[in-house]
Amino acid sequence: MKNFFLFLFVSSLAIGAQAQRPEADHFTTAAGELTIQPVLHGTLMIQFNDKTIYVDPYGGEQAFKGLDKPDLILITDIHGDHLDEKTLDALNAEGTTMIAPQAVKDKMSEKYKKSTSVVNNGDKHNDLGILIEAIPMYNLPEAPDAKHVKGRGNGYILTLGDKRVYVSGDTEDIPEMRGLNGIDIAFVCMNLPYTMDVNQAASAVLEFEPAIVYPYHYRGRPDMSDTAAFKALVDQGSKNIEVRLRNWYPDYQ
Ligand code: ZN
Repeated sequence: MKNFFLFLFVSSLAIGAQAQRPEADHFTTAAGELTIQPVLHGTLMIQFNDKTIYVDPYGGEQAFKGLDKPDLILITDIHGDHLDEKTLDALNAEGTTMIAPQAVKDKMSEKYKKSTSVVNNGDKHNDLGILIEAIPMYNLPEAPDAKHVKGRGNGYILTLGDKRVYVSGDTEDIPEMRGLNGIDIAFVCMNLPYTMDVNQAASAVLEFEPAIVYPYHYRGRPDMSDTAAFKALVDQGSKNIEVRLRNWYPDYQ
């Protein structure tokens, strides 16, 4: 018996050492309930009433264990942390409606192309009663050999009831981001050398003033970006923006 309790104690320590998926956040909109679930890196799940949307599903089957299956998948860009067919395979996503820019569709296997609608920068699209707008995401200064060239990938703005949710994709503090209006919830990337640093991200966020911002996609090289420093900068600059820090890098092994 003693050994059994020792076993329980040691197992709970082992479980405690593993960071778990963060709790989902719930919001009320004029047209129903909105739930946001951080998953991993640039991956999130959005639920609006009874519909489930995955953005950039990545991280394999384990990352999605216990979550509802997607009715719609949005993909922002061609890189493996955004278009990840291994994860799409693990989710049995063949036949699931996907929305992606042309460059992503060009890179997909035939089985996924069939259910993918192309939405490029500037396009608007309606699906599941949700307005989806695609906006640019790219590195500054613009260069043909940039990691993210303008026009290839999409940031997305989703209108869910009266709430507007912005997902930045991989970008720097471009004028299209700085000029956004009426964003209720924003997901903003901040990782070097791929996107931008926390100072650029904070400066842009202070300009477009979303009501709530989640730093996401913040694992870079050599290390994670300092999201606490990002929060301090935003808190100093504005009383109107709530920064929500979540662990976007749980151990799903
Ligand atoms: Zn990325």
